Amino acid sequence: MKPIAQRIKELAAEIGFSECGISKATYLEEDHKHLKDWLSKGYHAGMQWMTNHEEKRVDPRELVPGAKSVISVLYNYYLPPKRSDDALKVSMYAQGNDYHFVMKRKLKSFIHLINENIAPVNGRVFVDSAPVLDRAWAVKSGLGWVGKNSMLINKKQGSYFFIGELIVDLELPPDQPVTDHCGTCTACIDACPTDAIVENKVIDSNLCISYLTIENREDHIPEQFKGKMDDWIFGCDICQEVCPWNRFSVMHQEKEFIPKFDLDIDAESWLHMDEDEFRIKLKDSPVRRAGLEGIKRNVKFVIKE
Ligand code: SF4
Ligand code: SF4
Repeated sequence: MKPIAQRIKELAAEIGFSECGISKATYLEEDHKHLKDWLSKGYHAGMQWMTNHEEKRVDPRELVPGAKSVISVLYNYYLPPKRSDDALKVSMYAQGNDYHFVMKRKLKSFIHLINENIAPVNGRVFVDSAPVLDRAWAVKSGLGWVGKNSMLINKKQGSYFFIGELIVDLELPPDQPVTDHCGTCTACIDACPTDAIVENKVIDSNLCISYLTIENREDHIPEQFKGKMDDWIFGCDICQEVCPWNRFSVMHQEKEFIPKFDLDIDAESWLHMDEDEFRIKLKDSPVRRAGLEGIKRNVKFVIKE
């Protein structure tokens, strides 16, 4: 019989996860220090929820009593968007159905199949929505390193993937972290139009177009960003587009991420959209997170430039 960790990883691959790694469910001491430092500098901007549940964020045993292991997975979403010349820019990950739902279904099926076919297991699934430091766990599990742009970078596939994890009560042999391969490259820092990469691997959300266009709940974007938005109205992929490791990205195979919403639209079409059209046209799209008013605010700001 193959070792249990190997069987779990083979199952992850069958479900479609491009990578799977394991780490021991312990207190994330170093990451806790970084989190405290990042919060104390106000780099979380208006994302007040980042300050909640600090203990749970840094120790999975606070979330899942009896947790022994964290099984991290990556799920590819790479598919370069087709954009007409006058279309405004929406982040690549938002072309298909909201990944939270897609990933959650796959992770639930993953834990169910481990339980049915490999070993009895109790645990919970997480994807970017609960207080879990996905990236820190992926690093600990050997799935990549944190690039200077603060994204998880994987040597085989770059950074265009979602991260999810199972926190489980199974004792499993942990994988080893990999080394950092950014080297002397500074492409992401040089390309960021708003200088949001303020230290190595540290983003100040107050300056980041992704934050400004999605999580930002203010009714305006500060004037200091005029001329710097590069036509982004939902998210920003610049620091991934320039990363040399993304030349290894391959097209995803997930039908739910196939572009289903017509996002190749110009400023006028966005500004004329009403709430009904937004709700129906973008049903199940991550773009709805910004709200129609948020998108219109972004469009107006970008076209004023
Ligand atoms: S997402 Fe855009 S604005 Fe944010 S750090 Fe990357 S390049 Fe800069
Ligand atoms: S662009 Fe260069 S420095 Fe930035 S994350 Fe990629 S390899 Fe690292």
